[in-house]
Amino acid sequence: MSLPKLANYAGGKFVEPISAAYLDNVDPSTGAVYSYVPDSDDRDAERAVAAAEKAFVTWSQTPTAERSRILLKLADLIDANLERLARAECIDNGKPVKLARTLDIPRAAANFRFFATAIVHFHSESHVTDGVGLNYTLRQPRGVCGMISPWNLPLYLFSWKVAPAIACGNTVVAKPSELTPMTAYMLCELCTQAGLPPGVLNVVHGLGAKAGSAIVAHPNVRTLSFTGGTVTGREIARIAGPLFKKVGLELGGKNPNLIFADADLDEAIRESLRSSFTNQGQICLCGSRVFVERPVYDRFVSRFVEAATKLRVGDPLDEFTEQGALVSRSHVEKVRSYVDLAKQEGGRILCGGAVPAGLPERCRGGYFFEPTVITELPVDCRVNREEIFGPVVTITPFDDERQVIDYANGTDYGLSAAVWTSNVGRAHRVAEALQVGTVWVNCWLVRDLRVPFGGVKNSGVGREGGVEALRFFTEPKNVCVRIPK
Ligand code: NDP
Repeated sequence: MSLPKLANYAGGKFVEPISAAYLDNVDPSTGAVYSYVPDSDDRDAERAVAAAEKAFVTWSQTPTAERSRILLKLADLIDANLERLARAECIDNGKPVKLARTLDIPRAAANFRFFATAIVHFHSESHVTDGVGLNYTLRQPRGVCGMISPWNLPLYLFSWKVAPAIACGNTVVAKPSELTPMTAYMLCELCTQAGLPPGVLNVVHGLGAKAGSAIVAHPNVRTLSFTGGTVTGREIARIAGPLFKKVGLELGGKNPNLIFADADLDEAIRESLRSSFTNQGQICLCGSRVFVERPVYDRFVSRFVEAATKLRVGDPLDEFTEQGALVSRSHVEKVRSYVDLAKQEGGRILCGGAVPAGLPERCRGGYFFEPTVITELPVDCRVNREEIFGPVVTITPFDDERQVIDYANGTDYGLSAAVWTSNVGRAHRVAEALQVGTVWVNCWLVRDLRVPFGGVKNSGVGREGGVEALRFFTEPKNVCVRIPK
């Protein structure tokens, strides 16, 4: 049986890569190739940019209400195809189908719905200057936007960029990660069904260093939105900087969970387990460093480890699976290398650290790794400072508020943090002192699409979400009109 071949999407049509070359697309739960993805190059990027430029002329002039209507239709179509998309995301990425059904796909629909309605309410500023002039700000779409997205939450993060950009009247050339191209491909079919005009969204599949960098470097792509690793973000900034492109970078994290002795321990354990291991720890917002105040440290560790060993690792297509496969063989090797490093750095592996036993026959060639808990590491060792992006968490005791703030801030990253305490004053104090873009107090991953989202330090620059995204994807122009006497 021949395997399906995905296609690029340019000018509203599915098209072969110009080179006619394809890459293997592997199902991480089996290790088997199950489809092929275009191995696009700069010629495909060029074709997509030309389609996007052409579409921009009309789309940027399309009334807001009409753009909103089309995006709402697209959101409805995602909902209507929830099962199909969730299954595809599960096979492409290795995540439990239940997670794709409850998080990734509903959130993709929510992204389109949110920005479809946000544009209807978005307003710009005006200022009267001493009765002499009236200044008002036009917020105009910026043109062709380039978007590069990662593999961990494929459709969720793809739509998080595409939705605000096209809602504002821009057109888009996007490259999903070649490890997880399927749901972006399926979304293109839904765009056609929703009546999105040809060329408003264009998708170029392929490798970052080839297809991705061609989009980044294209002179007519003046706006870039990137989500991915810090090293790639630095490379994109290096190319885009001298060309004066507008760039938003959402990069890696090494997020701390701070658990004070006065916290509701049951809740803190339950949610820390979720923040450590959801999506096999492959979410930029996962809390991979847990700091626990000394009086409750032993209790926390023993109960946390007991719960981690009970997580059901297995076939992602099984409804009861809580931990699926990691995205690729090389990623499993990376995660394993950090567990080996932890041993060298003096860490004690309390559970996990290996490929799980007892996987179903179908999954024997897949890329699985047990939920892993490590203690007794120095706070400033590499395992505690570098992003692992897998099901590996370290737990460290602390003595007081000042010390744990220093621990938490002691990495080059600054994406998010979670604070667990019943002391309201402390919650506010600590939240203010943490060098991150988002602090959750007594919760984790409670998302409101209106709030600014992004990181500080090596976790990126710029903010996405809500009005920040609408501002990012529009160019302000001030018009000053003299008020006649
Ligand atoms: P990468 O940085 O490896 O890749 C991200 C995307 O960039 C992929 O599509 C990749 O293509 C592409 N790419 C790679 N090199 C280039 C280049 N030179 N020019 C243009 N594009 C390029 O990240 P991962 O896919 O491994 O994703 C995991 C990372 O993403 C983690 O560090 C994680 O923390 C971060 N992330 C951050 C989030 C945030 O909001 N801050 C959210 C989610 C993830 P290819 O696949 O071919 O390499």
